[in-house]
Amino acid sequence: MSRPLRGIGVGGGSAVGPVARMAPAPALPAPRPVTDPAAEAAAVRAALAAVVTDLNERAARTSGPGSEVLAAQAVMAADPILADEAAALAEQGTDGAYALTAVFDGFRTALAAAGGYFAERTADLDDLRDRAVAHLLGLPVPGLPDPGHPYVLVADDLAPADTALLDPERVLALVTVRGGPTSHTAILAKALGVPAVVGCAGAMELADGRQVLVHGADGVVEPDPSPEAVDRAAAHERRRRERSAGFQGPGRTADGHPVALLVNLGAPHELPGAAAADAEGVGLFRTEFLFLDRAEAPGLAEQAAAYRQVFAAFAGRRVVVRTLDAGADKPLPFATSTDEENPALGIRGLRTAARDPQLLETQLAAIAAAAADSTAQVWVMAPMVSVPREAAEFAARVRAHGLPLAGAMIEVPAAALRTDRLAPVCDFFSVGTNDLAQYAFAADRTLGSLAELLDPWQPALLGLVATAAGSAAEHGRPIGVCGEAAADPALALVLVGLGITSLSAAPASLPDVRAVLAAHTLAECRELAELALLADDAATARDTVRSRMAGRSEELPPAAV
Ligand code: PEP
Ligand code: MG
Repeated sequence: MSRPLRGIGVGGGSAVGPVARMAPAPALPAPRPVTDPAAEAAAVRAALAAVVTDLNERAARTSGPGSEVLAAQAVMAADPILADEAAALAEQGTDGAYALTAVFDGFRTALAAAGGYFAERTADLDDLRDRAVAHLLGLPVPGLPDPGHPYVLVADDLAPADTALLDPERVLALVTVRGGPTSHTAILAKALGVPAVVGCAGAMELADGRQVLVHGADGVVEPDPSPEAVDRAAAHERRRRERSAGFQGPGRTADGHPVALLVNLGAPHELPGAAAADAEGVGLFRTEFLFLDRAEAPGLAEQAAAYRQVFAAFAGRRVVVRTLDAGADKPLPFATSTDEENPALGIRGLRTAARDPQLLETQLAAIAAAAADSTAQVWVMAPMVSVPREAAEFAARVRAHGLPLAGAMIEVPAAALRTDRLAPVCDFFSVGTNDLAQYAFAADRTLGSLAELLDPWQPALLGLVATAAGSAAEHGRPIGVCGEAAADPALALVLVGLGITSLSAAPASLPDVRAVLAAHTLAECRELAELALLADDAATARDTVRSRMAGRSEELPPAAV
């Protein structure tokens, strides 16, 4: 295969490097009769020892929190009880892969029953089991590859748990078979600041070690690129960086119209990079990371400590905290029910607070306690607001905690259409284009196959943004965009032209957005917005706007192939 592969480009720029694939969990083959139980037991012990060695070596090579996770996993795998029990089963004639699986599954059940912190470690045990079984069967070890040099990571998809282990020093680019433009993989790629292509069918057929050129802006993966193509991409990359480096400070258009540029923050390891970014603050602080992978919600003190860290890092700047957005793509055992047939349309986001008011109360109390000790300007907003009553109740609860600024995310079409009715009770708005696209087009945001409908250039989506922005302006309310749309420089111009007053994106996306804004006047942004609204489909909107943009050759990625 040497044809270029096409998917959805989600992280700008381009990168070239050798492929390293993420192997899937091994499937258990049919059990074999064991002819030499002693050898089988020795193989079981050797497989576990190999897992321990692997993990320790990787921990030593990895920097940051990923290293601690790997070292902790190595300690679990080295537990002699695991090895003794699995070896004993093998000695009794059980196939080694089955012996390992049985013992790990037994530990898993015991941990899950213990609840709390222990129950949260069951995923680690599953990972260790898969690694041990792969070693025993001589299959590629599942999980992130570690070829010992920088690489282009190719995977079917990435689980949120993989993300803490991704080393931005080593991952040159990301390519996944699954995932759409607003999936968590896309969000992760932007946070890492690496070029990425998601929804890329056939990517897992690229052999390990094969050179590929990944074009993040236009979603193309070029196997065995020619030296000319690599040079062209590198030259474009250099120009892009130079151009972006020429602009600093608050976002504004060429004629001085201010557009606050803010960062999205979704995990503790992102905090240093986010705080160091040239940004006016945080436009979306996704607080879910505190709640994920846990059997019960964190208490007030633990939450307050986490918020304090963020507010301290952004002292004097704005921090827009989004209250817990549980459910659908972010399920939490203690906040969401498992018996809904359509979780994306169920009790999620702010709706969970109606079912469990204490969850929101504790969170607001923790935010208020942390805000009281800080000079950060703390704004608090609710996810998934649909009707004015919800916004009013939320705002009252926020203010009851002494927090002065309460807002609503606009991610449900009903809220976009009736922003004028939300405005009297909200101090500000933030458009979540990821969910707004999902609900406007009745298209699951996690499905790469629906990428066309989820494309943030869809004129109908832009129409909803225009309606919401017009209503917010009439009431003098700021309205930002914090969905993935804000990271696309050309689309950022359109959003500003539609009346959006701030843009929040991964830190790595901001320099390009800032530079492109500085090169266009507000009137030009409005003209581009008009063109996008008039288009029949997303591709036409994108192409028309991009070809009209000033300095076209500087704004667009090189023709990939
Ligand atoms: C959105 O929906 O656009 C958004 C920013 O929120 P999340 O992606 O966390 O659902
Ligand atoms: Mg959302």
